[in-house]
Amino acid sequence: MKADKRTMQPRVLLVEDEPAQREAVGYNLEAEGFAVIAADNGEDAVLLVEEDRPDIIILDWMLPRLSGIEVCRQLKMRAETRGIPIIMLSARAEEVDRVRGLETGADDYVVKPYSMVELMARAKAQLRRVRPATAGMWLEHGDLRLDPESHRVHRADKVLKLGPTEFRLLATLLEKPGRVWSREHLLDRVWGRDIYVDTRTVDVHVGRLRKALCVHGGDDPIRTVRGTGYALG
Ligand code: CA
Repeated sequence: MKADKRTMQPRVLLVEDEPAQREAVGYNLEAEGFAVIAADNGEDAVLLVEEDRPDIIILDWMLPRLSGIEVCRQLKMRAETRGIPIIMLSARAEEVDRVRGLETGADDYVVKPYSMVELMARAKAQLRRVRPATAGMWLEHGDLRLDPESHRVHRADKVLKLGPTEFRLLATLLEKPGRVWSREHLLDRVWGRDIYVDTRTVDVHVGRLRKALCVHGGDDPIRTVRGTGYALG
């Protein structure tokens, strides 16, 4: 189940220019189960968001090249990156900074020196919002229920047998019911970025998933969106 861990693992982008801080926070994030991508300046942060699409971002305020505020503003302006939660770190505790931080669209704000326990709790709270399955929460939709911890899937109280790929596919679809996923996006989420898989493979596994979901009867809960991809419900 190595592949499972890699692709289900939440990704965090940590942007901090002080090496000791970056190392300490990175170490703690890894201990919490995050895959950590790190940057030490604002420009690289923006590029890494494009490349790696992290699930959440921890962003220092004072950074070389491009400030944390500017990075935040840019990411929140773009439709493709707007939904990624950003936790801003700042050494300045003044109320006005707090307000400015929130006006740039930051989702949370932590003042230095912060407790590592608190920062980790904030990071996990943001993650629960965007990737509930990686936070170990049950995912439910209609008569479907998926438990990421025990790797069990139920439909109308009957246990379903799914292969590991079909399980990850279903978890991805269940995280955002109704959302239309392109084949490329599903490939990225379910198979991972480093693996080359043809987009037709997605169709094959969606077919298997559909069959497994309907094995005890019931309607097909997966919708094919022509020319785009798939959605649940
Ligand atoms: Ca700094």
